[in-house]
Amino acid sequence: MSLEAATMAPEWCLDPQPWFSCLDCGVGLYWVDLAHGELLICANAQCVGAGIEVPVWRAQQHREALGLDRPVSDAGWPRPVLEGRPVPYVTPVTAGHPWWRLTHGPRLLHCQNDWCCQVCGQGLEASGWVVVDPRGMVQTDAAMHERCLRLATAACPHLLAVAAQRAAQVRRADIHGDGRPLRDSGALTREQWTVPRLGAA
Ligand SMILES: [Zn+2]
Ligand SMILES: [Zn+2]
Repeated sequence: MSLEAATMAPEWCLDPQPWFSCLDCGVGLYWVDLAHGELLICANAQCVGAGIEVPVWRAQQHREALGLDRPVSDAGWPRPVLEGRPVPYVTPVTAGHPWWRLTHGPRLLHCQNDWCCQVCGQGLEASGWVVVDPRGMVQTDAAMHERCLRLATAACPHLLAVAAQRAAQVRRADIHGDGRPLRDSGALTREQWTVPRLGAA
Protein backbone atom coordinates (compact mmCIF):
# COMPACT_ATOMS: atom_id res chain seq x y z
CA MET A 1 0.00 0.00 0.00
CA SER A 2 1.47 3.36 -0.98
CA LEU A 3 1.92 6.13 1.54
CA GLU A 4 -0.65 8.19 -0.34
CA ALA A 5 -3.22 5.40 -0.14
CA ALA A 6 -2.42 4.87 3.53
CA THR A 7 -2.98 8.52 4.40
CA MET A 8 -6.17 8.71 2.33
CA ALA A 9 -7.67 5.61 3.89
CA PRO A 10 -10.14 6.10 6.76
CA GLU A 11 -8.73 5.42 10.21
CA TRP A 12 -10.70 2.21 10.65
CA CYS A 13 -8.85 0.68 7.71
CA LEU A 14 -5.82 0.49 9.94
CA ASP A 15 -7.54 -2.11 12.11
CA PRO A 16 -10.08 -4.18 10.14
CA GLN A 17 -10.91 -6.59 12.98
CA PRO A 18 -14.06 -4.88 14.27
CA TRP A 19 -15.32 -4.49 10.68
CA PHE A 20 -14.62 -7.77 8.93
CA SER A 21 -15.08 -11.19 10.47
CA CYS A 22 -14.03 -14.64 9.33
CA LEU A 23 -16.59 -16.44 7.15
CA ASP A 24 -15.88 -19.67 9.01
CA CYS A 25 -15.29 -18.84 12.69
CA GLY A 26 -16.57 -15.26 13.03
CA VAL A 27 -13.35 -13.92 14.61
CA GLY A 28 -12.14 -10.54 13.35
CA LEU A 29 -9.81 -10.59 10.35
CA TYR A 30 -6.35 -9.03 9.98
CA TRP A 31 -4.72 -7.54 6.90
CA VAL A 32 -2.29 -9.78 5.05
CA ASP A 33 1.16 -8.25 5.67
CA LEU A 34 2.03 -7.53 2.05
CA ALA A 35 -1.53 -6.77 0.92
CA HIS A 36 -2.69 -4.11 3.38
CA GLY A 37 -6.05 -2.67 2.32
CA GLU A 38 -6.58 -5.52 -0.12
CA LEU A 39 -6.52 -9.02 1.41
CA LEU A 40 -7.66 -10.18 4.86
CA ILE A 41 -6.78 -13.28 6.83
CA CYS A 42 -8.05 -15.21 9.84
CA ALA A 43 -5.44 -15.68 12.55
CA ASN A 44 -7.46 -18.19 14.61
CA ALA A 45 -5.36 -21.37 14.51
CA GLN A 46 -8.45 -23.52 15.28
CA CYS A 47 -10.34 -22.22 12.23
CA VAL A 48 -10.71 -24.23 9.00
CA GLY A 49 -10.29 -20.92 7.17
CA ALA A 50 -7.06 -19.98 8.97
CA GLY A 51 -4.39 -18.82 6.57
CA ILE A 52 -6.75 -18.44 3.61
CA GLU A 53 -6.57 -14.97 2.10
CA VAL A 54 -9.94 -13.23 1.70
CA PRO A 55 -10.35 -10.28 -0.69
CA VAL A 56 -12.13 -7.21 0.68
CA TRP A 57 -15.16 -7.72 -1.62
CA ARG A 58 -15.68 -11.22 -0.16
CA ALA A 59 -15.39 -10.01 3.43
CA GLN A 60 -17.77 -7.17 2.55
CA GLN A 61 -20.27 -9.66 1.10
CA HIS A 62 -20.13 -11.43 4.45
CA ARG A 63 -20.78 -8.12 6.28
CA GLU A 64 -23.84 -7.60 4.10
CA ALA A 65 -25.04 -11.17 4.63
CA LEU A 66 -24.82 -10.56 8.40
CA GLY A 67 -26.89 -7.39 8.01
CA LEU A 68 -24.02 -5.17 9.20
CA ASP A 69 -23.93 -3.20 5.97
CA ARG A 70 -26.11 -2.79 2.92
CA PRO A 71 -25.02 -3.08 -0.72
CA VAL A 72 -24.46 0.44 -2.05
CA SER A 73 -23.01 0.06 -5.53
CA ASP A 74 -25.54 -2.28 -7.19
CA ALA A 75 -26.25 -2.03 -10.92
CA GLY A 76 -28.24 1.05 -11.96
CA TRP A 77 -28.24 4.60 -13.21
CA PRO A 78 -27.57 7.26 -12.03
CA ARG A 79 -24.62 6.09 -9.94
CA PRO A 80 -24.50 6.71 -6.17
CA VAL A 81 -22.05 9.47 -5.20
CA LEU A 82 -19.73 8.93 -2.24
CA GLU A 83 -16.78 11.05 -1.16
CA GLY A 84 -17.71 13.43 -3.99
CA ARG A 85 -17.32 10.89 -6.79
CA PRO A 86 -19.68 8.51 -8.61
CA VAL A 87 -19.19 4.91 -7.46
CA PRO A 88 -18.73 2.31 -10.22
CA TYR A 89 -20.59 -1.00 -10.11
CA VAL A 90 -17.30 -2.91 -9.72
CA THR A 91 -16.11 -0.88 -6.69
CA PRO A 92 -16.70 -2.49 -3.28
CA VAL A 93 -18.10 -0.19 -0.57
CA THR A 94 -17.77 -0.63 3.20
CA ALA A 95 -19.65 1.57 5.68
CA GLY A 96 -20.07 4.26 3.02
CA HIS A 97 -16.38 4.16 2.07
CA PRO A 98 -15.64 3.09 -1.53
CA TRP A 99 -12.50 1.01 -2.00
CA TRP A 100 -11.51 3.03 -5.05
CA ARG A 101 -8.41 0.95 -5.83
CA LEU A 102 -10.12 -2.42 -5.45
CA THR A 103 -12.39 -4.43 -7.74
CA HIS A 104 -15.33 -6.65 -6.84
CA GLY A 105 -14.24 -9.98 -8.36
CA PRO A 106 -17.58 -11.60 -9.28
CA ARG A 107 -18.99 -8.31 -10.56
CA LEU A 108 -16.06 -7.76 -12.88
CA LEU A 109 -16.34 -11.34 -14.08
CA HIS A 110 -20.05 -10.75 -14.76
CA CYS A 111 -19.18 -7.64 -16.80
CA GLN A 112 -16.64 -9.64 -18.82
CA ASN A 113 -18.79 -12.71 -19.42
CA ASP A 114 -22.09 -10.96 -20.05
CA TRP A 115 -20.84 -7.83 -21.86
CA CYS A 116 -22.01 -5.46 -19.16
CA CYS A 117 -20.74 -2.01 -18.23
CA GLN A 118 -18.22 -1.78 -15.37
CA VAL A 119 -19.57 1.65 -14.33
CA CYS A 120 -23.35 1.07 -14.21
CA GLY A 121 -23.52 -2.73 -14.36
CA GLN A 122 -26.14 -2.68 -17.10
CA GLY A 123 -25.94 -4.48 -20.46
CA LEU A 124 -23.97 -2.96 -23.34
CA GLU A 125 -25.06 -2.49 -26.94
CA ALA A 126 -23.17 -4.14 -29.81
CA SER A 127 -20.26 -1.82 -29.12
CA GLY A 128 -18.87 -0.36 -25.93
CA TRP A 129 -16.00 1.87 -24.81
CA VAL A 130 -12.72 0.88 -23.22
CA VAL A 131 -9.70 2.82 -21.98
CA VAL A 132 -6.53 1.37 -23.54
CA ASP A 133 -2.83 2.05 -23.22
CA PRO A 134 -0.49 2.22 -26.22
CA ARG A 135 -0.01 -1.57 -26.12
CA GLY A 136 -3.75 -2.14 -26.42
CA MET A 137 -4.13 -3.26 -22.77
CA VAL A 138 -7.65 -2.53 -21.49
CA GLN A 139 -7.72 -0.73 -18.14
CA THR A 140 -9.79 -2.59 -15.51
CA ASP A 141 -10.46 -5.27 -18.18
CA ALA A 142 -14.06 -4.32 -18.90
CA ALA A 143 -16.08 -2.05 -21.20
CA MET A 144 -18.44 0.90 -20.59
CA HIS A 145 -21.34 2.81 -22.10
CA GLU A 146 -20.42 6.12 -23.69
CA ARG A 147 -22.32 8.01 -20.94
CA CYS A 148 -20.48 5.97 -18.30
CA LEU A 149 -17.10 6.65 -19.89
CA ARG A 150 -17.92 10.38 -19.77
CA LEU A 151 -18.88 10.07 -16.13
CA ALA A 152 -15.70 8.16 -15.28
CA THR A 153 -13.37 10.53 -17.10
CA ALA A 154 -15.07 13.60 -15.65
CA ALA A 155 -14.66 12.19 -12.15
CA CYS A 156 -11.09 10.95 -12.75
CA PRO A 157 -9.44 13.14 -15.40
CA HIS A 158 -6.16 11.28 -14.80
CA LEU A 159 -7.75 8.22 -16.46
CA LEU A 160 -6.89 9.62 -19.88
CA ALA A 161 -3.86 11.65 -18.84
CA VAL A 162 -1.76 8.74 -17.62
CA ALA A 163 0.66 6.85 -19.87
CA ALA A 164 -0.99 7.92 -23.13
CA GLN A 165 -4.19 6.05 -22.31
CA ARG A 166 -7.09 6.76 -24.58
CA ALA A 167 -10.72 5.81 -24.99
CA ALA A 168 -11.72 3.59 -27.90
CA GLN A 169 -15.00 2.22 -29.15
CA VAL A 170 -14.88 -1.55 -29.61
CA ARG A 171 -17.08 -4.51 -30.34
CA ARG A 172 -16.82 -7.67 -28.30
CA ALA A 173 -15.17 -9.44 -31.23
CA ASP A 174 -12.29 -6.90 -31.10
CA ILE A 175 -11.27 -8.05 -27.63
CA HIS A 176 -8.95 -10.82 -26.54
CA GLY A 177 -8.99 -12.28 -23.02
CA ASP A 178 -5.64 -13.62 -21.81
CA GLY A 179 -4.42 -13.44 -25.40
CA ARG A 180 -7.26 -15.44 -27.01
CA PRO A 181 -10.46 -14.28 -28.72
CA LEU A 182 -13.20 -13.93 -26.10
CA ARG A 183 -15.50 -16.87 -25.63
CA ASP A 184 -19.22 -16.12 -25.49
CA SER A 185 -19.28 -16.39 -21.71
CA GLY A 186 -18.45 -18.81 -18.98
CA ALA A 187 -14.91 -17.78 -18.04
CA LEU A 188 -14.36 -18.75 -14.41
CA THR A 189 -11.74 -16.16 -13.54
CA ARG A 190 -11.04 -12.61 -14.57
CA GLU A 191 -9.19 -12.37 -17.88
CA GLN A 192 -6.70 -9.74 -18.95
CA TRP A 193 -8.33 -7.87 -21.83
CA THR A 194 -6.45 -6.51 -24.81
CA VAL A 195 -7.52 -5.00 -28.12
CA PRO A 196 -4.90 -6.32 -30.56
CA ARG A 197 -5.82 -3.92 -33.36
CA LEU A 198 -5.16 -0.96 -31.04
CA GLY A 199 -1.78 -2.22 -29.82
CA ALA A 200 1.51 -1.04 -31.25
CA ALA A 201 2.94 -4.55 -31.37
ZN1 LIG B 1 -11.62 -18.06 11.03
ZN1 LIG C 1 -22.84 1.93 -18.08
